[in-house]
Amino acid sequence: MAQKVQGTEDLYGGYMRAWQYMQAVAHELFDTYGFDMIETPALEQVDTFVHGIGESTDVVRKEMFRVISGALFEKLLGDGSEKSLKPRQRLAMRPEGTAGVVRAVVENNLVPQGSSPAKLWYAESMFRGERPQKGRLRQFHQVGLEWLGAPDPAADAECIIILMEFYHRLGFDMSKLRLYINSMGDSHCRPAYREKVKQFIYDHKDEMCADCLERAELNPLRSFDCKNERCHEVMKSAPLISDNLCEDCAEHYAQVKAYLDAAGISYVEDPTLVRGLDYYTRTVFEVEVVNVDDVGAIGGGGRYDGLVELEGGKPTPGIGFAVGFERIALALAAQGVDLAGDEPTCVYVACAAPEQRSAVFDATLTLRDAGLRVEADYQGRSLKSQFKQADKLHALVCVVIGADEVTNNTYTLRDMNTHEQISVAKDNLVDEVIKLMYGAEFIDI
Ligand code: AMP
Repeated sequence: MAQKVQGTEDLYGGYMRAWQYMQAVAHELFDTYGFDMIETPALEQVDTFVHGIGESTDVVRKEMFRVISGALFEKLLGDGSEKSLKPRQRLAMRPEGTAGVVRAVVENNLVPQGSSPAKLWYAESMFRGERPQKGRLRQFHQVGLEWLGAPDPAADAECIIILMEFYHRLGFDMSKLRLYINSMGDSHCRPAYREKVKQFIYDHKDEMCADCLERAELNPLRSFDCKNERCHEVMKSAPLISDNLCEDCAEHYAQVKAYLDAAGISYVEDPTLVRGLDYYTRTVFEVEVVNVDDVGAIGGGGRYDGLVELEGGKPTPGIGFAVGFERIALALAAQGVDLAGDEPTCVYVACAAPEQRSAVFDATLTLRDAGLRVEADYQGRSLKSQFKQADKLHALVCVVIGADEVTNNTYTLRDMNTHEQISVAKDNLVDEVIKLMYGAEFIDI
């Protein structure tokens, strides 16, 4: 039997409804902040991610799925090397949303000089070649937003406010969420700080793992995230960015916190929060759920004032966040909230005998024109098994059509809860069905 790829999932039924619900909540909320939806291709040139996310990051070095066409694959088998490929032939599945959106903003000139910011949100699959485990997939889904052209600390605060409101609307017990924030400095203060951390790691090289020693050269700040207990202990005494911010970054960070305080958002300052990607500057944030094992971060983001330039655009500040659908669903389930909601209900049109098929067909069309979800029998079942089928499909009402109904221009409506039946005039079908399903006040007069 064919099998799905490890670390991927089929989305259907309740899980699909949960994903759709999450998108609907995002749409409604983000719209009030003026964000429009964007969809960028799942395939980008490798360079889009190398420039943006950074060559030395785990995401780019180890986790990105690289893609080549069948024809090129054959060619590669011939000479065995990727070097002969042109940049436009070196492709990858997107491991995250920001780099692609920023590429799209640059390519389509969505923030012309002096114009208003671009505010965009997305709901897309991401692909990372990680070792699959609970809450860690190879294809997963993110909702995220990107705000290009807004340097003001109020934008940072608003992003975080939107994020927390999003969790609230999804049904989280907010007392169980921890928002961590930090400032990572900018091109003025971070390089010197990075050097300090690098030096610190070299000074403690006997105590650190091999990965951290490699990181010291490429991406020393990542050592703050090392899973090795010993490295973790050592890094507790490493220099902190909070003591190394330049005046502008410190002021920007102070203002972000002041806005969050004013909005009543509680947060924990974590000067070791660095996030994995190179492009972040100044504000970064991450949200975790307390008391839920193994779920990890359920969302995070930050400011990336240098990214647009890295993707070939004019200097344009940016900020955004992304949340992971699968982890949110897990975390909410642990809090007893099911994003899937109830299965959809319907009205079922039952056919007593084959002679009434065309009358059934007419009734289904009429009911669907009124916007109702309508089911009928397409397998020639007996009336009894049609009622069973109607129950399975969560029908609230059955319209029963037999010879008498056709002769008398009526329909029999069966309330599937009480099993009571009434006869209604053909012309009143829609109103009577809606009355039974939802109550008289829902009839559209
Ligand atoms: P990141 O871009 O790594 O900060 O990811 C943003 C959010 O996406 C995280 O907070 C997670 O909720 C989710 N996420 C990241 N990686 C994975 C993965 N491999 N599987 C499932 N969810 C993920």
